[in-house]
Amino acid sequence: MDSSDNSDAPSPQSAETSLVTAGRDTKAQKGFVNPPVVHGSTVLYPTAEDLHAHRSEYQYGRHGTPTTRALQETLMALEGPQCAGVGLAPSGLAAISTALLAVLRAGDHLLVSDSVYQPTRRFCNGLLTRYGVEITYFDPLAGIDIQTLFKANTRAVLVEAPGSQSFEMADIPAIAAVAHAHGALVIDDNTWATPLYHRSLEQGVDISLQAATKYIGGHSDIMFGTISANATAWPVISETIRLLGICAGPDDVFLALRGLRTLAVRLAQHYRSGLEIARWLQGRPEVARVLHPALESDPGHAIWRRDFTGASGLFSIVLKPRPQTAVDAMLNSLKLFGMGFSWGGFESLIIPFDCSSYRTATRWNPGGPTLRLHIGLEAVDDLKADLDRGFAALNAA
Ligand SMILES: *Cc1c(COP(=O)(O)O)cnc(C)c1O
Repeated sequence: MDSSDNSDAPSPQSAETSLVTAGRDTKAQKGFVNPPVVHGSTVLYPTAEDLHAHRSEYQYGRHGTPTTRALQETLMALEGPQCAGVGLAPSGLAAISTALLAVLRAGDHLLVSDSVYQPTRRFCNGLLTRYGVEITYFDPLAGIDIQTLFKANTRAVLVEAPGSQSFEMADIPAIAAVAHAHGALVIDDNTWATPLYHRSLEQGVDISLQAATKYIGGHSDIMFGTISANATAWPVISETIRLLGICAGPDDVFLALRGLRTLAVRLAQHYRSGLEIARWLQGRPEVARVLHPALESDPGHAIWRRDFTGASGLFSIVLKPRPQTAVDAMLNSLKLFGMGFSWGGFESLIIPFDCSSYRTATRWNPGGPTLRLHIGLEAVDDLKADLDRGFAALNAA
């Protein structure tokens, strides 16, 4: 949607306040704080003349409801003044695939960060190549050296910072400057930091994507994606969403909005607890390296400090060499850290991972077993005790 914000909120104001006030229309909601969950397909027109002229605030369920509008207005307020519109998708991956289908056509060339979320890579290799798009993966640390990879037909660059699993920090403003000089668009998967801690659209990104399944939902109870675009990209995003018939279910829209209201306090806690545990893990004898850009020792720290205002609770560690059976014993002994995919909910998670089989522009050779942790909202001391138990099992195996 791209209608002007008709919320109750005064502006301008901080993002934390916008998260609470934006998208609320108390009068239309008959005094209730939250919008209704509108389950609807048909919208009735009062007269034939109104029908002919498509004269009504809402036309059809797929094109928007009062519930989707409230969410979109809140996301627009969070993204900032560069945001011309926000599209909603039924998953983070659907947001990514929709954005790529919107900007690319047969014969185009796409540059993709080598550390992009793996299913994004599968979409590029499995579907975009089938439709005649040529893809080159680039080292996420390339910075302005990415210019050597541009071709006359390079249409877009897909970045993600920090990278999925391995947490390299790409220099997004540098990449965006090169891309724009070549007439290419920049698409950023901004799921890790959310627009609260990384204002992509203010740093040269044209399309900023969220797997709202993660921190925006925040409770591990929805699949959801969002596509925020600047004025350059919004027309083609909006058109493609309509052409593809992309829309999200009303209950999930409501839950995404409910999650967004408390994003600032949740994320601040994930940031604080995550960094405290990352520092504690740096001091553990079993740990060779902690991959977390907010740590001063991290190679991406300077870029993170310059471009981001916070960190989320997701990071990885490299263990000193141990057999898989010992790592499995560690994982099996944990009681608070659950094993499972996704992240961004209230609960702590841990998974082993290995990027070596699918990275093509860089080599993944960390020198030991790797684990990705999501630090949830449990007490930090309890999480440390749980990891202590894990390390004891690792050492005993
Ligand atoms: C989880 C994730 C996605 C995909 O989101 P889904 O809602 O699971 O489809 C995309 N990008 C990143 C960085 C993710 O972590």
